[in-house]
Amino acid sequence: MKNSLFIIAFLVFSSSFSQEVYSETMKLMGSRFDISVVANTKEEGEESIHIAVAEISRIEKLISSWDENSQTSLINSQAGIAPVKVASELFQLIERALKISKLTSGAFDISYASMDKIWKFDGSMTAMPSEEIIKKSVDKVGYQNILLDHKEQTVFLKRKGMKIGFGAIGKGYAADKAKILLQSKGVKAGIINASGDLNAWGKQPNNKDWMVAIVNPLNKNKVFSWLPVHNQAVVTSGNYEKYVSFDGELYSHIIDPRTGYPSKGILSVSIFTKSAELADALATSVFVMGVEVGLDFINQLKDVECIIVDGDNKIITSNHIELKQNNHD
Ligand code: ADP
Ligand code: MG
Repeated sequence: MKNSLFIIAFLVFSSSFSQEVYSETMKLMGSRFDISVVANTKEEGEESIHIAVAEISRIEKLISSWDENSQTSLINSQAGIAPVKVASELFQLIERALKISKLTSGAFDISYASMDKIWKFDGSMTAMPSEEIIKKSVDKVGYQNILLDHKEQTVFLKRKGMKIGFGAIGKGYAADKAKILLQSKGVKAGIINASGDLNAWGKQPNNKDWMVAIVNPLNKNKVFSWLPVHNQAVVTSGNYEKYVSFDGELYSHIIDPRTGYPSKGILSVSIFTKSAELADALATSVFVMGVEVGLDFINQLKDVECIIVDGDNKIITSNHIELKQNNHD
């Protein structure tokens, strides 16, 4: 009798603490977000997801180039005219973006954005822009002309017509911030996935690591390999979502800021590191650098790994990644 009572008490105890994954999908920053958290109850899970959504929306307001009232739009509209005082959060984000530009010799450049006038990936382009137009478009690009004043906390784009945009770093940044906020609220585990830019922490309720699939860029239903993610970010930049094609050639939405031409030769790049912001920026950079230079570059960075799928759909990995190829592919 005593024994069975003990068992019942144990069952009640364990079920009231049984944890589950709660997930929601929504559109934020113009992209699909999948937010998953591990929680004790549905209410707790929903509350956490709500906190993450509010945080991502807050960031969107700060960095959106579409919202003409954002501080980013103000910087752009004052290009060549006057420095703009901004929130320290935005100032620091731009500062970090400039560091990555230096690190990548300009392959990554948030001032690529003035080129969105000539390259459009919404289906509206019918012909390749002329060489002359492409050459001219690069005039307005150059991270060296983004001037930061620490004391005044101002950002000044030196040339008229210059523009900055966070398309290659913003989703990663938002994933990081949402994760950090939820962790500070005591959420033990979760994944913030911004259309393939994700940051995960903790473990699944069954105590196993979260897993991420590296998919075949030519057929997203086929998985090349599954990898565990343990408190880190995984960001994939792919050619398969946004591109244009002329004369049978694919041109990706990632543009070499130094030439004005879209990058070629890579189908997808996945970067593994602690922060999704850095991973996001590096994925874009490797795309621009190409397979050889990109791989060499990643192999020189500490705690950063990558998986590149080249133009022939061949997988290339950095020095410390072991890939178990999926036999079902
Ligand atoms: P995805 O949108 O597939 O996650 P990325 O994170 O690489 O891909 O971001 C691509 C976006 O970044 C483009 O749509 C464009 O807005 C912007 N971008 C394109 N080329 C560059 C570049 N060289 N440096 C910085 N941003 C870029
Ligand atoms: Mg990116």
